[in-house]
Amino acid sequence: MNSSSVPRSATPADPVIVPRAEHGIQRRQISANALKVIERLQQAGFDAYLVGGCIRDLLLATQPKDFDVATSATPEEIRELFRNARLIGRRFRLAHVRFGREIIEVATFRGTGEGDADDADRVIEDGGRVTRDNVFGSEAEDARRRDFTINALMYDPATETLRDHVDGYTDVRQRRLRLIGDPVSRYREDPVRLLRAVRFMVKLDLGIEPQTAGPIVSMAPLLDGIPPARLFDEILKLFLGGHAWPTYQALVRQALWPELFPALFVDPAQPPKLVENALKNTDQRIAEGLPVTPGFLFAAFLWQRVKARADELVEAGEAPVEALAAAGEEAIVAQARKVALHRRFSTIAKEIWCMQPRFEKRRGKRAMRLINERRFRAAYDFLLLRVDEEPELAELAQWWTDIQDVAHEERISMIQSAPGGGSGKKRRRRPRKRKAPSAQ
Ligand code: ATP
Ligand code: MG
Repeated sequence: MNSSSVPRSATPADPVIVPRAEHGIQRRQISANALKVIERLQQAGFDAYLVGGCIRDLLLATQPKDFDVATSATPEEIRELFRNARLIGRRFRLAHVRFGREIIEVATFRGTGEGDADDADRVIEDGGRVTRDNVFGSEAEDARRRDFTINALMYDPATETLRDHVDGYTDVRQRRLRLIGDPVSRYREDPVRLLRAVRFMVKLDLGIEPQTAGPIVSMAPLLDGIPPARLFDEILKLFLGGHAWPTYQALVRQALWPELFPALFVDPAQPPKLVENALKNTDQRIAEGLPVTPGFLFAAFLWQRVKARADELVEAGEAPVEALAAAGEEAIVAQARKVALHRRFSTIAKEIWCMQPRFEKRRGKRAMRLINERRFRAAYDFLLLRVDEEPELAELAQWWTDIQDVAHEERISMIQSAPGGGSGKKRRRRPRKRKAPSAQ
C-alpha cells in the first residue's frame, strides 16, 4: 500500500452527524452510479462518501451537475476495484469511473501536508500558493482542506447521514458562504478561491460572511500569479453558468474584473452596452437551453478595443476586414497574458469581428455567400447587439433579420433592391483578349 495513504496527522475530530430526518436528502435524488461506486468501496473496507457541490446543491434544492466521491482508498486501489476507472491529473491525482456518458470522480482523502516541509507531493510556492496537492490524509483533513464550509459536507448513503466537520450544515441552512479556516491564508494558498467566492455567491444567491468577503478586494491582485489556462477554465464557469450578468457586476464590485480583463473599459461599472447585452443574452440562451460559446462573449468583451484599433488601421489605408483581423489578433494576444482563450474560441471571435463590415455589402452574390457561412448566425446576433450603441445600424440589422425569413425568390429581389454595397450590377468579366507579350 502506498505509504502516503496513511493519515499523517490524524486529527481525532469526529464529525457532527446530521440524520436523514433533519437533512431530508433522499437516495433517489442521487446518481445510481455514484451509489454503486460508494457501495463497492465500502464493501472493500474503505471509507467512501459523496462530497462537495452535489451535497450542497441537494440541500439548496438545486440540481447537482455531477456527483463526486471522496474515499480512503488510494488512486491505485480505486483502479484495482473498478475496471472502468482511469487515473487522471497531475496537480491533483484522482480516478474517473466511467458509466456510459456519466463519469463519477473519485478522489482520495487529502491532507493539509503541514509539517512535511520536504514533501514533493505538496508544492508550496513563494507567497503560499499550492501548486501540487497529492498528500493523502484523513476524512476530517479532507473536509478542512476544501474551500467553503458548504462545499465540505459528506454524505454516507449506507446510513443516509451527513458528516459535517466544518459547521457547514448550519451555513447551508442559513445560505451563508464562509471559507474554512483563516480567509487570508486560504485565499493566498489558492487565489482562484476569490473567483469561486463570487461565483457561488451569485449562482446560489448566498450571503457572504464578513470575514470571507473582507479580504477579496485587497487580495484581488494575487490572481496575477494564476496560469492563464486555469483562469480560462474558471471564466467558463463564471460566465456560462446562467448568471453571467450579475456575476460580471459582482466581479466589478470585488475589484476582480480588471485582474482578468485589464484596461478594457474606462469604467467597468458602466461597461459598453454591447457587453451588458451579450452577458444578458448569454443568460437568456442558457435559460432557453440554446447553445452558447465563450467565443461570442470574448468577441463582445474585446470589441471596443478591436474596433478602435481597426479604425486606426483603416485610416492608415488598410481594408476593413484585414484591419479587423489584425486588430483582433493583437487584442487576443494581449488578453492571453491574463486569460488564455483556446484557439477554437479565439477563431470564433475573429470570425464574428471580421464579418461585421461584410454586413454592409448587401448586393450581389456576397450577401448570399454571407448568409450561408458557418459563423453567420453568431455574427448576425453580434450585429443585433451592436445596435444599441450604434443606432445607425438599426436599418441594416432589420434587413438582415428580414432576409432570413423569406423564401429564396424574395431573397434575390431583396438583394437586388438593397441599398449600398457597390454598383449592384453584376459585373461580367469580358473574356480578355490575349495580349501579345510585351517587348520588354
Ligand atoms: P460546481 O457545481 O460549480 O461544479 P463544485 O463545488 O462541485 O461546484 P468543483 O470545482 O467541481 O466545484 O469542485 C468540487 C469540490 O472540490 C468543491 O465542492 C470543493 O469541496 C473542492 N474544491 C474545488 N476547488 C477548490 C479549491 N480551489 N480549493 C479548495 N477546495 C476546492
Ligand atoms: Mg462540481
